[in-house]
Amino acid sequence: MSFLYRSTRNAEETATASEAILKGLAENGGLFVPDEIPALDIPFEELAEMDYKEVAYEVMSRMLTDFTEEELRFCIEGAYDSKFDTELIAPLKYHHGAFILELFHGKTIAFKDMALSILPYLMTTAAKKNNLNKEIVILTATSGDTGKAALAGFADVPGTHIAVFYPKNGVSPIQEKQMVTEKGKNTFVAGITGNFDDAQTGVKKMFSDKELAAYLDEKGYIFSSANSINIGRLVPQMVYYVYAYTRLVKAGTVAPGDSINIVVPTGNFGNILAAYYASLMGIPVRKFICASNDNKVLYDFFTTGTYDRNRDFILTTSPSMDILISSNLERLIYRIAGNDAEKNSELMKSLTETGSYEITDEMKKNLYQFYGNYADTDEVAEIIRTLYAEDGYIIDTHTAVAVSVYDKYKKETEDNTPTVIASTASPYKFTRSVMTAIDSSLESKGDFELVDELEKLSAVRIPKAVEEIRTAPVVHDTVCDKEEMEAVVKKFLEIQ
Ligand SMILES: *Cc1c(COP(=O)(O)O)cnc(C)c1O
Repeated sequence: MSFLYRSTRNAEETATASEAILKGLAENGGLFVPDEIPALDIPFEELAEMDYKEVAYEVMSRMLTDFTEEELRFCIEGAYDSKFDTELIAPLKYHHGAFILELFHGKTIAFKDMALSILPYLMTTAAKKNNLNKEIVILTATSGDTGKAALAGFADVPGTHIAVFYPKNGVSPIQEKQMVTEKGKNTFVAGITGNFDDAQTGVKKMFSDKELAAYLDEKGYIFSSANSINIGRLVPQMVYYVYAYTRLVKAGTVAPGDSINIVVPTGNFGNILAAYYASLMGIPVRKFICASNDNKVLYDFFTTGTYDRNRDFILTTSPSMDILISSNLERLIYRIAGNDAEKNSELMKSLTETGSYEITDEMKKNLYQFYGNYADTDEVAEIIRTLYAEDGYIIDTHTAVAVSVYDKYKKETEDNTPTVIASTASPYKFTRSVMTAIDSSLESKGDFELVDELEKLSAVRIPKAVEEIRTAPVVHDTVCDKEEMEAVVKKFLEIQ
């Protein structure tokens, strides 16, 4: 059964899955959403016996209906191989009364690898299917992790180029080093003097600039996106929730059909939306627990029904969640408005013009499965210490936001439903914040001394991704203003 993807801002604009992946974004800033989410019509017991790649095929083949079996299997095989340091791909570990889903075993040790290992395969396959005779230019705004994961995925992939913009003072030292040492010949990295929202707005602006698109077209290029606004990011992210649920079935922790809760440390709302889509496909979920840091726009939204970005942008110890405009929330808004592109467009217009919008009571009712809360920087440090003291397990700052919020949820509700917490990064990526949370006397140590300390404490080997950058030379040193983004992209492509 095939279906189309449709813009959240124009009911007339449709695309096949492969077209939606190639385009990234719909016209006028709209996002592509699936017209339907097919049921996962396979018994959970059967899925429980499948490995990650097999589960990936079952989920993705239902969502990306214009890919052939051969194409999809080729993409999956290429993506989920020895780039991951465990054959399980996404292991589940039990700590602090919850199942921690470790999504950081890929090449760049953040959960972005789960989708960005496969996106280049999906995109180049989509280009072939659609007889695209242009070079693809991936434009990416990053709050720290998407950037390196996208660079690693697209580096030296024929027919593609990738430009990454990150907030110059808004990422961790390890995150920055990972990006600026990227060696791929088709890659470009620039820090911008602004925050993540500035980077994301600048990238979206380039996407919707028709004149720029025509100019690129003439030069033989076309833009696409590696951000979670691309459906090619969201669909692969549904897989690990189905995988996690069926592992719990396999372990006998939940009976097939029993509900779980899912906690997600949230920034752009992509990861938690993928969990929601996975539940629409069939895994039973009681609550989606949306965890924010001090930039708690989403917590306020879920508690009041008003989304309001008019507030100070706070730099926290979980920089990948320092976001005030959660792009993917638009897909949920569209859905709770009854798949109404007009209604959604009105709200998004209000967001652009006034920085806020308010949903109706009826729409609010459709959010009953979502719970929002937040954890501040002190709470993050405290929960890292707590878990370490409990059984020696060390989590990163983003996962810590999720665990802290889960504690608050349990205290408020006394809900004992088995719970999966998405662990979105390795502690090695945020070594400074993690190690000083455990022992504040380490403050004066260098970044790589802290890496060595973390290895001693955690008894988890230093990942290759970190070893590699210890001595790697800086390749990218561009810093620009948000107004200069278009110019530096043209310079990178040598078309100015
Ligand atoms: C990107 C990221 C997040 C936020 O994910 P969204 O899909 O943007 O909500 C959380 N934690 C880490 C470590 C990330 O890299």
